[in-house]
Amino acid sequence: MRKTRHMVSLLFLLATLLVAQGPTKLHPGFNLFSKDQDVQLGKESAAEVRKQMTVISDPFLTSYVNRVGKRLVNSPEARDSGYPFTFEVVADPTINAFALPGGPMFINTGLLKAVDNEAQLAGVMGHEMSHVILRHGTNQASKAQLIQLPAVLGSQVAGGSMVGKLAQVGIGLGANSVLLKFSRGAESQADLMGSHLMADAGYDPVQMAKFFEKLSSEGGARGPQFFSDHPNPDNREQAIQKEVSRLPKRKYNYQTGDFQKMKQSAGQIKEPAPKQQPQTQ
Ligand SMILES: [Zn+2]
Repeated sequence: MRKTRHMVSLLFLLATLLVAQGPTKLHPGFNLFSKDQDVQLGKESAAEVRKQMTVISDPFLTSYVNRVGKRLVNSPEARDSGYPFTFEVVADPTINAFALPGGPMFINTGLLKAVDNEAQLAGVMGHEMSHVILRHGTNQASKAQLIQLPAVLGSQVAGGSMVGKLAQVGIGLGANSVLLKFSRGAESQADLMGSHLMADAGYDPVQMAKFFEKLSSEGGARGPQFFSDHPNPDNREQAIQKEVSRLPKRKYNYQTGDFQKMKQSAGQIKEPAPKQQPQTQ
């Protein structure tokens, strides 16, 4: 009898532990920048990007990515971060998107053409937003320039411009920039938080895993660019699936209803030769 009671309490304890597990808690790591400096850096860099890349002014496409983006921004982890996220489409055939520190996101037409459904687009966007929320860009810059950054960030060099300050220590937005080329650890975190944002927005997070799977199996000239900035962590798909199993059960049935119209509009955009990365250094 006593043994049974022990067994019952043990099972109860186990069940409590399993339920308490819940979604993985993720926090930004070490950083020498203030959150305001992330925002300022993102604003200045976005202005450079707009000069160098062809931003699409099509009101429908702009409104479409903003509607998907706003759903994701309403997720508690995104909302509580307080970053002013913005979403713009750029004419570039490469399957890619990137988000600058503090929130400005640029989505290539190549990505819009490649996704099979809206949840896959939301997956890439949620993943990018997670890099912003977790401050991976400035975290990596902080680690790379641990010694020189504190003095430069506090100085009035280059009239207080963040881009100017970072140029002093050799950090820009060019190819392989520490601000945009992420470690595998950062990738895993962005996948997990991205799955939370998707689920909260009503998109099935498994679609993010499906899209990455599709990209790696397709390879080719257009696919791997995403993986050069976002290297595939081990067992990426399984890790996302496992996280989804830890999220509260809910229905994933949100869509704007304009996915097909988006496909048509994006299909009509003529893209210049791929630039792949803005060059602002
Ligand atoms: Zn990434």
